[in-house]
Amino acid sequence: MVSIVGLALELVFAILSHSMILITDVAHWAVDGALEFTTMVTLYLTSKVLRRFSWGVLYFESALALLISAIVIGTYMIPFTDYINSYTTEPSAGVTTSNPFLALVSSAGGVLTFYAFSYLRRAYAKTRLEILKAEYMHAAIDTVASALVTIGIIATSLTQSRTVELFTIIASLFFTLHSVANIVEDSVRSLLGLNTDVELKYKLVAMLSERFGDSIDVKSVDVRKIGSFYVAKVELYVHPHTTISKLHRMRLEIAKACREVNEMVYHVDVVFYPRTKTRKRPRSAKEKTKGVQ
Ligand SMILES: [Zn+2]
Repeated sequence: MVSIVGLALELVFAILSHSMILITDVAHWAVDGALEFTTMVTLYLTSKVLRRFSWGVLYFESALALLISAIVIGTYMIPFTDYINSYTTEPSAGVTTSNPFLALVSSAGGVLTFYAFSYLRRAYAKTRLEILKAEYMHAAIDTVASALVTIGIIATSLTQSRTVELFTIIASLFFTLHSVANIVEDSVRSLLGLNTDVELKYKLVAMLSERFGDSIDVKSVDVRKIGSFYVAKVELYVHPHTTISKLHRMRLEIAKACREVNEMVYHVDVVFYPRTKTRKRPRSAKEKTKGVQ
C-alpha cells in the first residue's frame, strides 16, 4: 500500500514536471513495486496451510518479476535516450528539473520508504521470515536513494546545471539497476535450478541427525531455491528390514521437520536406501566413550 501511494505520487509529479530525475525515480519505484507485488503473492501462498498450488507458481513468481522489470526499463529507455541525445547535441537546452519544490515530492517518497523499512523490520523481528529481511534491507538502501534524489533535485534547480542533473540521474539509475540486478539474478538462477542454499542444507543435515539419528543415516541433502521457496531432496540410509508403513510415516515426519526449520520449504523429496553392512555413519558419542575406555 505504501509503495502504491509513493509510486502514484511520484508518477503524477513526474508527468506534470517532465523532470528526468523524478522519471528515473518513478522507474525505480515501479521495479520495486513489481518485486513487492510478487513477494506479497508468495507470502499469501506461504500462509496457506495446505500448499496445494502447482509447481508452476514457483516459477511464475520469478518470471513475473523479470517481465515487469523488463517492461519498466524498456519504457524508461525512451525518455532516457532522448535526454542523453539532447544533452550531447543541444548544449544550450535547460535542465528538466527547474522547480526546487519537486524535492518535497521525493522527500515524501523517502518518508514512505523509511516507514516501510521500519514496518518490515518489525515484521521480520516477529516472523523471522528471510523474505522480509531482504525487503527491509532493500527499503533501507532505498531510503538513502531518496535522500540522494532529494539533494539532487535541490542542487539541480538551484544551479540550473545539466551536469548536476545528469549525475543525479545516473546515481538514481544505479539504485534502480541494483533492484533489477537482484531480480534478474534470482530469476535466472531459479529458472536454471542453480540456486543451492548451503546454509539451509547444513541446518537440515544437523536437524535430521539430531532428531532421526537413531533410525537413519543421512546420505545427502540438496536444497534448491525457486523464487522465494525451497525444494529439498533428502537421501537417507535405513535398516533394510524397515517396513514400508514405517518409511511412509518417517517420510511425512521428515517433511514436516524440514518445514519447521524453514517455513519457505515448499516440497521435500525423501529417498530411502537400504543400509549396507559397512556403516558410513560416524561413531556415536556412546560408542566413542566405550572406545576410549
Ligand atoms: Zn529499490
